[in-house]
Order: sequence, then C-alpha cells, then structure tokens
Amino acid sequence: MEASACLGLAGAFVALEAAVRGRAAGRRQRELLRHITTHLPDVLFEATPEGVFTSVSRATRQVLLTEPADARGMSITDFTRDRMPPFEPGAEHVSWTTLWHLPDGTRKVLNVILQPLWGERGRLAGFRGVIRDQAERLTAETALRESEARFRRVLDAAQNGIMLVTHDGKLLLTNDALRTLLGYSAAEMQARTLADLVHPAYVDQLMALMASRAWSDAAPSHYEVQLLGQHGALIEAEVSLAAFRERGHTTGVLIEVRDLTEARRASEAIRRMADYDRLTGLPNRDLFERHLQRALIDARAAQTQVGVVLLDLDRFKLINDTLGHASGDRLLKAVAERLQGQLPPRHLLARFSGDEYLVLCPDLVGAMAADAAVRRVIAAFNAPFELDGHLLQVSTSAGVGVFPVHADAAETLVRIADAALHEAKAEGGNRYRMGSDDANDPARRRLELEADLRLAVERGELYLAYQPQVDPGTGQIRALEALLRWNHPVRGQVGPDEFVPLLEETGLIVEVGDYVLHEACAQGKRWHDAGHRNLRVAVNLSPRQFLVSDLDARVRSALNASGLPPEALEVELTETSGMLDLDVVSGMLDSLIDLGVTTAIDDFGIGQSWLGRLQQFSIRTLKVDRSFVQRVEASSNDIAIVAAVVALGHALGMAVVAEGVETQRQLDIVRAVGCDLVQGFFYAQALPPEALEDYLADGFDQEFDRPAEPLAA
Ligand code: C2E
Ligand code: MG
Ligand code: MG
Repeated sequence: MEASACLGLAGAFVALEAAVRGRAAGRRQRELLRHITTHLPDVLFEATPEGVFTSVSRATRQVLLTEPADARGMSITDFTRDRMPPFEPGAEHVSWTTLWHLPDGTRKVLNVILQPLWGERGRLAGFRGVIRDQAERLTAETALRESEARFRRVLDAAQNGIMLVTHDGKLLLTNDALRTLLGYSAAEMQARTLADLVHPAYVDQLMALMASRAWSDAAPSHYEVQLLGQHGALIEAEVSLAAFRERGHTTGVLIEVRDLTEARRASEAIRRMADYDRLTGLPNRDLFERHLQRALIDARAAQTQVGVVLLDLDRFKLINDTLGHASGDRLLKAVAERLQGQLPPRHLLARFSGDEYLVLCPDLVGAMAADAAVRRVIAAFNAPFELDGHLLQVSTSAGVGVFPVHADAAETLVRIADAALHEAKAEGGNRYRMGSDDANDPARRRLELEADLRLAVERGELYLAYQPQVDPGTGQIRALEALLRWNHPVRGQVGPDEFVPLLEETGLIVEVGDYVLHEACAQGKRWHDAGHRNLRVAVNLSPRQFLVSDLDARVRSALNASGLPPEALEVELTETSGMLDLDVVSGMLDSLIDLGVTTAIDDFGIGQSWLGRLQQFSIRTLKVDRSFVQRVEASSNDIAIVAAVVALGHALGMAVVAEGVETQRQLDIVRAVGCDLVQGFFYAQALPPEALEDYLADGFDQEFDRPAEPLAA
C-alpha cells in the first residue's frame, strides 16, 4: 500500500475509533473499524506532538507485542529510545526506519510513516501514522518471490514442455522447454492460444478431449499430435492431459508435451542399424534380399535377367593378421567405396559378411550379360588400394547366380552365388565362377547336399559304421572307431569327407555330434554286455563341437544314458583344423579328461602340430595320419617319420595307432617300428555292428599276421 493510502486509512481509523469510543458510530462504521483493525497487519495510530499514542489499532499486539490498551499512553520514543525525526515545516509525511525495543527484550527494525498534523499558525498538533513490520513483510514477500522463482525454475528445468491452459484454450502458463520446442519467445507465446500451437488436424480432437472428461483419471492420458512451431515447423509430440485443480476446483488443464522427434530419430537409427552394415554403411544381407526380391518381380514382368554377384577378397585374412584389424577395416571400407563409386546405375552393393560383398545387377538381357556385369564389378579391383600409405593390390573371387537361369528365388540365388564362389576360391581365387544348374557340377552338388543334409538329419538317414583298431600281434580288436555314413536316397552313399564339412559349416554338426555320441556309447555298451569288456569305442569330435560350451555335459549325458564306463570311450580330436587352437580348447579338454574318457589325436602329423603341447595334456593315443602310412612302402623318409612319431608317443606314454594300413607290407613296416594298433582296409573297412560280431569273437585271421621282415635302411 502506498504511504498516502496508508495514511488515509490511518485517518479513517482514528476518526472511526473516536466515534466508536464516543458511541457516535453506526453499525456499518463499527464493522468497518473492526475490518480495518483485524485485517491490517500494520499499526495505525494517532499520537501527540511528543509521540505519545492516543489511539492505536489492534496490530500493536503482533507488531509491538503490546496490547492496544497498554500502548495508548506510551510514547514512540519509549520504543525507539530515540528522538522523533525532524520535520520540515509544512511537510506532508516522513518515512522513518529505526530500531524498536520491544517489551520482551527483542529488537526489531520497524518503519514508521509519520504524518504531522498541523494545527493553527503552523504549530504541530500531533501525528498520525502507520507502523510497519518491515522484516515480516520482507520475509513474506521474499518467501513468496522465492517460491515463485523456485516454481519457475522447476517448471523451466523440466525436460518436457508444460503448459497450463483454460478449457477454452487460453495459455495461462508455459515453460522454457515448450517455448524452445516451438521456437517462441515468452512474449510471442503470450500472444498465442492453444489452437495456434497445434496442427489444425488435431485441434478439434484436442479441444474436444479437454472439454470432455477424457483427461480425467479414467481415460488414457497420452495422445500423439503434431504441434506447430515458429514458421510453421511441424513437431511430432506426445501430449498428456491432467486436470489442474486449485482450492478444490478444476481451473484448467495441465498439458505435458514430450518431443517425439528424438525418439523417432532413435527408432530410425535402430532401423538403419538393422538394415545397414555399421562398418561400411552399406545395406546388409537382409536389406539386399528385400531389394533382390523386388528386382525379381520386376525382371519377371520385364522378362529380363538379374545377376547376384558374391565377392570375397582374396587373402583378406592375411592382411588382417599382418596389418591388424584396424587396417583390415579400412580396407573393407575402401573396397566398399571403390565398388560403390564404379558400379553402373541401379546396381546395388551390400555387405554380406566379413570380407564378402554382394552386388545386385538388375535388367540383364542376353546370354553374356551376366558375364559382362561381373567383369565390370571385378574391374574395380584393377587399381591398387592405398592403405596406411602403402599401395596394396587386392584381388577378389566371385560367384554369380543368375535369375532365371540358375534359380527363381532370392535366397537360392544367393546360395548359388555362394557355392560358385567356393569353387572360384578352390581354384585358387582371383577369378569368378558362374553358378550352375547342372546337378553334377561340384558347386551345385554341394548346394543340394547341404539342403538334403538337413532333411537327412530329420529323416535319420545318417548312421554309424565301425572300423576296428587291431592289435597286429594277436589280431584282436581293441577299439572301434565310429564313422558317420549317409545313405542318400538318390545319390547313394555320400562320404563323410564331403558331408562332414557341410555339417560343420551349417552348425548341424552339434546336433549330429550328439547323435553320434549317444549311438556309439549305446553300441559300445551292447558290446560290453555281450562280453567284450575291454573294447573301446572311438568317436570323432569336430572342432566346431569343441566351441560349444557344454560339450563335456553332452559327453557325460551320452555316457550316463548308455551306462558305458567313461574309460571305454575315446574321443578323437583332429589336429588339422586351425579352429582347434589348444589354448581355446584346453579347458574343455581338461574337463573331458576329468570325466574319465580317453583322448586321441587324429590324423597326427599333418596340419599345425600339437607336438610341442602333447605333454601338457593326458592324451592317450596318437593316430599317425594315413598319408604317412601309405608312403612307407615307397619312401624311407616316411618310415623314419612314422618311427619317430612312435618313439615320441611311447616316450610320452601314449599308444600309437597307424591309420590307413591297406597292405601286408604296410602292416609289416608299422609293426616293425612299433605301432601298437593298426586301423585300415587291410583288416576291415568301417562296418555295421552286425558284420563285426565274428571278428569281435575271434579276432582277425592270424595267417596275415606274419612277423615283420627286417626293414631296408
Ligand atoms: P578319420 O577320423 O581320420 O577316419 C578315418 C578315415 O580313414 C575313415 O574315412 C576311414 O574309412 C578311412 N580309412 C580307414 N582305413 C583306410 C584305409 O586303409 N585306406 C583308406 N584309403 N582309407 C581308410 P571316412 O569314414 O570317410 O571318414 C572320413 C573323415 O570324416 C574321418 O576321418 C573323420 O575326420 C570324419 N568323420 C567321420 N565320422 C565322423 C563323425 O562322426 N564326427 C566327426 N566329427 N567327423 C567324422
Ligand atoms: Mg578319426
Ligand atoms: Mg584319421
């Protein structure tokens, strides 16, 4: 309140109080007085020229801690212990802030607005005035201001836009986030209504929603709308509505606005990640196949051909291993860029996997069009690539599948290209091969076998045959190696050398490997039960099986299910595959040995040698690779090798098996150098269990078992 208004009020108060005291006041005047005195926090007073209160309002209780009756008669200076302030003659009022001493001993800064009352001849007749509790007012005001500021900060710190609107869409309040989202300043915002901020398509809906009770608790509170920002910008947002209540009444709708642009961008990014390769930014295999499917539909309509070229960089692994993965990655990117830049229009480049790329060549017409297309693609490799400051000549192999020549379906085309690529690689790389529709073409055969193999597993076309390992001294069978057989319904017998690699590549080997373990253990148990207690069964484990973390559990389960004692099972590990890195498999090898099964190294002598590591594991058996055994007749070097392997094995406490013994002479030699067991066609091929009954009982005919002739030097 302005000082003059206060003083006016003080004047009215004094007059009223006098009237009430003199009982000259009417009812309305008394009420007004009561009103003034009860609601005004300031002390209204009149005082003598000396400052003695003659009349005071009720606020003395709170402000001066003194009952009004007691205050009357006390002087201002009793409280201030100071002189009254001086007045210029004729002055209207002074504002005087000074320290007041209150009856309870406390002190307070109080402001007094004093209005001198001038009597006749300019003499001071007294004062009228207002005493204000500055501090109280200040704190109350500060508190209010602070709480408002805090509220604003909270509002403005909110990530989401917030607006408080009336039911007819007037904006009562908005926060920073909303203004930023829409691009308006606070002033610009003030001039707008809700209808200005929402895309016309959503306005009616939103207003109807607000008018209805839909935003009350029961209704779903989130709606997706488009908002209109500055300059007509469209903003995808989610709004949620809540009734805003003040003192028990709904006074508006609180609308929270969540910007969906980010969320949309994130889901777009996720979609991109699913469709595009991260390293090269190229479409991935899935997206490629979708494009291919589209292209096939078009080609069918237009009677054109579509080529699928699968590229695989030659010797990429070498580059990766020698220059490092980072350089390998850079090369993959550079190849992607080069290809992308040189492809004819409408061709689509994708990353298939690792160092493999796919190219979709649409609209091919004529017999040689596919050849021309793949040549154009491969031409991108003519110039060397610059990598880490070096010029690197990179070559590629390619396989091509052509619609409709080789296949109709997208997936088959890719597989045909893949099979053809394998052929190109097998022929030494740096070349391309067209897919084939000839059933006897190796690539084609491979492809079909792979498809048939899945069925073979389901239909149980795979079974086990057993090849004996014979003690050459006695002709007794000591062990039987389980070997997979596939009786293909059309092609007849297919050898494991052909289909086991396919099982490994497709991962089917894990499932089939379980079957082999269970079946071989069960058969071993049958032989044990038939009285052949010292017989072992040997099972081949592929490197791929070793990479399955619970191989030991699978082996244990086969043993438990059959009841075969663990020591009667021998697992053969091949040393040929680079996959079987001893460091990687050593843990599993240990736990297999802990199970009590015995272990053998298969095909020993070829591939990277375990020689240096043999001692580390309790390997029971070394199987000398067939290729050495079969050369012993012709080469004394090979005799020396076999002799050395035997000596080594024995030195390490291992039994040595000669694999692939076909002739009497080979048998004689391997016996002479000390091989403990012999496995080979000389005794028997792998046979079904029934065919082995007689040999198991009697051993092999001793007439073959002549003493070895002395070895030629
Ligand atoms: P492997 O484990 O070295 O098996 C020995 C292979 O040599 C068998 O070929 C066997 O028939 C053959 N063989 C034995 N004696 C002679 C002989 O005197 N002369 C000639 N020329 N060959 C002989 P098979 O049965 O074709 O198996 C080939 C390979 O397939 C096996 O080599 C093994 O690595 C793999 N394999 C077979 N069955 C399985 C299986 O159940 N699981 C896994 N992972 N691999 C298997
Ligand atoms: Mg084997
Ligand atoms: Mg072998």
